[in-house]
Amino acid sequence: MSETEHGIYFVEEIAKGIYKFYEQRNASIYLVTGKDKACLIDTAYGLTDLKELVSHYTDLPITVVNTHGHIDHVLGNHWFDNARLNKADRAMYNEIVFEFSMLINEPWVQDFYGDFVKNIDAEEVFFPAPEDICEGDKIDLGGKCLEVYEMPGHTKGSIVLVDRADKICFSGDSIIENLWLFLEESESPETYLASLKHIREVLIDAGIEKIYDGHYSYEPIPVTMLDNMAEAMEKIIAGELRGEAVELDAGKGTEYSYNGWKVICK
Ligand SMILES: [Zn+2]
Repeated sequence: MSETEHGIYFVEEIAKGIYKFYEQRNASIYLVTGKDKACLIDTAYGLTDLKELVSHYTDLPITVVNTHGHIDHVLGNHWFDNARLNKADRAMYNEIVFEFSMLINEPWVQDFYGDFVKNIDAEEVFFPAPEDICEGDKIDLGGKCLEVYEMPGHTKGSIVLVDRADKICFSGDSIIENLWLFLEESESPETYLASLKHIREVLIDAGIEKIYDGHYSYEPIPVTMLDNMAEAMEKIIAGELRGEAVELDAGKGTEYSYNGWKVICK
C-alpha cells in the first residue's frame, strides 16, 4: 500500500479506516477508526503535535491505549486527555512522566528531533493519568471492537489488541522480529512462552491474518511466525540453542537467532 509523508511521520492506510503513523521509521502509532469512536494505539515519542496529525484522518473522539509502558510508546500521551495502560507498567510510566523535562533537553533527543523538540515548553506539558487496561477489556468503536489480551514478557504489563472485524492484531513489542526479553522489566523466557501460546490460540481462533508490531512492520507479520517463535523459545529454555553475548545501550543479554527470528534474553 502507498505511503504519504506528514512531518516526521510516514503514513499508510493499512486497512479501511486504519492508519499507521511511522515516526521517523522508528516507532509506530496506529489509528483505528470505528463508526462512533477511534482508538490510538501507542503514541511513540510523539514530540510533534499528534492531535493535529490525527485530525487529518478522523474527527471522532479518541481513546489512547498504550501496548506497554516504554518511552517510545507512551511519550506522546501528553497530546491527549486520556490514556489506558496495564497497571503492571504504571510505575515505569510515572518515571517517564517525571523525567520528561530533563529528557527533552538530552542531546540524543535534540539530535533525533531537531527543531521539533525545541518548540516544547516542558512546564506546559501534562500527561494524563492512565486508566488500567487488562485481559478481557473491549474497546467498542462502533461497528468494530478492539479486544485486549495480556502478554507479559517484553514488559510485565504488555498487552496486544485484536480487531476481529479486520483480522488484525496490534502487538506492540510483544510479537516482533527482534524481541527484547533482556530488560530489567522483562519476564522470564518461560513466562513469555506461556504468553505466546495463549495469544497464538486467541489469534488462530479469531482468524487473524496480519500482525502489526510497534516498530518494524514494513510488512505485517504472519500468524505462522508464532509457531517459529514458540519453537525457538522452547529450545532456548531447554538449552538447545546457542546464543551470542550482546551489549546494547539498554543493557547486556544473549541473542538467539532461529529461522530468521531474533530474541535477546537475560
Ligand atoms: Zn518496548
